[in-house]
Amino acid sequence: MSFAHLGLMPALLGNLQRLDYQQPTAVQEQAIGPVLAGKDVLAAAQTGTGKTAAFALPVLQLLLSQGGKVQPNCVRALVLVPTRELAEQVHESIAQYLHELPLRTAVAYGGVSINPQMMKLRRGVDILVATPGRLLDLYQQNAVRFHQMQFLILDEADRMLDLGFAQELNALFTLMPQKRQTLLFSATFSGPIRTLAGKLLNEPVRIDV
Ligand code: AMP
Repeated sequence: MSFAHLGLMPALLGNLQRLDYQQPTAVQEQAIGPVLAGKDVLAAAQTGTGKTAAFALPVLQLLLSQGGKVQPNCVRALVLVPTRELAEQVHESIAQYLHELPLRTAVAYGGVSINPQMMKLRRGVDILVATPGRLLDLYQQNAVRFHQMQFLILDEADRMLDLGFAQELNALFTLMPQKRQTLLFSATFSGPIRTLAGKLLNEPVRIDV
């Protein structure tokens, strides 16, 4: 199986070639098609499996092929992650997949000044990578709005719960549009993760690698 067979567009294929990604990993092979088809996905995947590209590539393709413009302070896709390190890493990967492609991205996490993050969000971003606490702060300061949001991705959902983000996550979910596509990635599936998945996902495709 190749990335082209999975239905990815030439612009993204070119960028994968630059990165020397020669063929999809197992999670990419199973997730990319369903996400492109508009399905919710529940995936069991550890770090190192290629999970970032598995959710990012199809979401970027859907955003690119829709065209349309993001409104001030709005986001079209949101990736929630547990830590600033993962936020930086996921944002960096997305920037590489998007090399010379016209989508706006931003990253936001706590422990650093909020002002540059607010400035970056002012014109709106197509895809935002954020930790839950800082995202809630940004919302409370009117720096981010969710009504244009079409894609929600939870990366390392189990770690977000382990780090005590359940309250922030629940507060954020009540602010988001019901009509959206949701992808949940987690290394483990405890009771609380299953409950979260049941609440957020609509007839998800299940992937286990
Ligand atoms: P992740 O599990 O998303 O953290 O990815 C682990 C590492 O694998 C990252 O350094 C990616 O750049 C790399 N990677 C992801 N997918 C592929 C692929 N299909 N071919 C080669 N490297 C990949």
